[in-house]
Amino acid sequence: MLNRILQALEEIIYPHYCLLCRIRITLENQLRRVTPPFPRDGNSLPRERAGLICRDCIGKIKPNSPPFCQKCGRKILKFDPSLNVCAECSKTQFWFDRAWASCSYEGVIKEMVHNLKYRNKICLAKVLSRLMIDFVSDYRLPLEACDCAIAIPLSPRKHREREFNQAEALADNLSAYIGLKLLKDNLKRIRDTKSQTELEKSKRWQNIRGAFALNAPSAVRGKTILLIDDVLTTGATASEAARALKNAGAAGVYVLALAN
Ligand SMILES: [Zn+2]
Ligand SMILES: [Zn+2]
Repeated sequence: MLNRILQALEEIIYPHYCLLCRIRITLENQLRRVTPPFPRDGNSLPRERAGLICRDCIGKIKPNSPPFCQKCGRKILKFDPSLNVCAECSKTQFWFDRAWASCSYEGVIKEMVHNLKYRNKICLAKVLSRLMIDFVSDYRLPLEACDCAIAIPLSPRKHREREFNQAEALADNLSAYIGLKLLKDNLKRIRDTKSQTELEKSKRWQNIRGAFALNAPSAVRGKTILLIDDVLTTGATASEAARALKNAGAAGVYVLALAN
């Protein structure tokens, strides 16, 4: 009761507006937490301040739903039980073992990722990582096999320009919630690559080849790693990062992205 009164007061003193549609966010149209606690010894998320994205905008996000490709996690449109990978994966060799993405990279999600990356709205990482947490819980992803998590790194130049790594911001919340240790400053980019989004699909594999290395290879030897990224498009970047991990002796690499 007291909590609700305080929230109502906060709303009057500090009104919040949706970052996307600019509507004023009230107690009625704010996003509420629905995910039950993850069974692992993770922590519950801290109470989130109202006022980032309204419930209507969140409602426009298209969550991914099964059947998922057993390799890249894309939705298989024509489900054939004898073929559990999508058409794309039947002709592509990925270095990771499995990948998933919580929602479709379009509309509201595209706008939110853009705000996070290019307009420094780092506060959005909390809302976005919550979508990933919901996805992990809803589909009971077999993440108990993972020993630790690693975020896909940016090149040092991009990291300096942006001042933060959006994948690591997502990974911070997600790994705390599912109780996985986040290994920082190990996987690194050893050369600057062109932005994958500027290249056509076939050039992306060539562009990213050999871009990753590890500072401490022994830390991943024999371990199963959960790689975390914001967007999974062709899967070339995640695959190349998985290659570096496997070459260092990682036993398995799973990938979880916000969107694909
Ligand atoms: Zn809105
Ligand atoms: Zn696939």
